[in-house]
Amino acid sequence: MAEANDDLKALIRTIPDFPKAGIQFRDITTLLLDAHGLAQAVERLAGAVRGPIDLVAGIEARGFLFAAPLAIRLGAGTLLIRKDGKLPGATIGEDYALEYGSDRITIHADAFAPGARVLLVDDLIATGGTARAAVRLIRKAGATVDQATFVIDLPELGGADALRSDGIDVVTLVTFAGH
Ligand code: AMP
Repeated sequence: MAEANDDLKALIRTIPDFPKAGIQFRDITTLLLDAHGLAQAVERLAGAVRGPIDLVAGIEARGFLFAAPLAIRLGAGTLLIRKDGKLPGATIGEDYALEYGSDRITIHADAFAPGARVLLVDDLIATGGTARAAVRLIRKAGATVDQATFVIDLPELGGADALRSDGIDVVTLVTFAGH
């Protein structure tokens, strides 16, 4: 049966065994290359957003590609969530577990006033580890985040459901089976 965003799904390329054996890498560069597909992805992400948003927070690096156009579309600013050591000003950060070891994401400590309404965006949600850490970080910094949008969901990895259990309304455009 045809699904709502099958046209966008057809523009996403799968590269097997990247960056390591067993991973099916869902490559959005082919979606970005398509003028209509890119515009429609942003439009459909925007269409799912409820209420006023002050900032669209994109997760490094592919989340940035959707965050800024989405922010323009919503009349909001763009907040960069970056890997540790990349932002030039004073930061606050949040650690999250990886399969092996841990990682840290950061935002500028003075990025927003308390109570700012933030929408979280990334290209893809898998286990949800990154997005959940982003939600903890935004909340720790005093903003409100109750919506997150992703172009791609890998539902078998459970990230979207985990994010919902954190009180986030999650919208995704296309799903892929498996990992
Ligand atoms: P996770 O924290 O497990 O939800 O992983 C999400 C992050 O890893 C996103 O920023 C994605 O860009 C990237 N990612 C994870 N799995 C894949 C995959 N199969 N294909 C492309 N990107 C992925």
